[in-house]
Amino acid sequence: MVKSQNITWHDSEVTKAERQEKNGHKSVVLWFTGLSGSGKSTISVALEKALFERGVRSYRLDGDNIRHGLNNNLGFSPEDRKENIRRIGEVSKLLADAGLITLTAFISPYREDRDHVREILEDGEFVEVYTKASVAACEERDPKQLYKKARAGEIKNFTGIDAPYEAPEHPEIIVDTEENSVEEAVEQIIRYLEDQKVI
Ligand code: ADP
Repeated sequence: MVKSQNITWHDSEVTKAERQEKNGHKSVVLWFTGLSGSGKSTISVALEKALFERGVRSYRLDGDNIRHGLNNNLGFSPEDRKENIRRIGEVSKLLADAGLITLTAFISPYREDRDHVREILEDGEFVEVYTKASVAACEERDPKQLYKKARAGEIKNFTGIDAPYEAPEHPEIIVDTEENSVEEAVEQIIRYLEDQKVI
């Protein structure tokens, strides 16, 4: 629900295009989506470092980190997950306007919510990166022991166990983390950014 009234957009005298030109690259949102344990955080951290070393101005928004602050009033119900993603989408849009390449690492299980973020960004700005791995593989890794807790009934609404995950239908990039290493995933994404003339 929109509650804000009597508000006026105030333009800057510096445009997004000018910021991008100064940075020497475009600003896109690399939206990682996938099951818990599929590799979103690991790959986005490695990619952020690789981009930083190339002089690309980037910033990473990570699920747990954002839930510590900005979204600490949200849980894991479908409504709260939706609001979580809506806010991340709006922050990503601001960062794109600031000229940065944003890397977001959220399960973001609902297609509709991800598509909403795609819609609020400009054409070509939303790059959906699907970290593909089976529930079985993620459960085997279980880096935060969350699957174990979900199986024991200690966590409810856990994606892949008792909450759905809607895989992207046409992601820009699919990283198969059962087949490829973290380094290969980073190379694959950098190649995409080069091919698209983002960097
Ligand atoms: P997510 O952010 O999607 O919940 P994490 O990055 O926290 O996932 O956890 C993924 C786990 O899987 C890590 O422990 C990581 O070391 C491991 N892993 C094994 N192979 C890969 C791979 N090819 N890509 C990414 N992570 C991998």
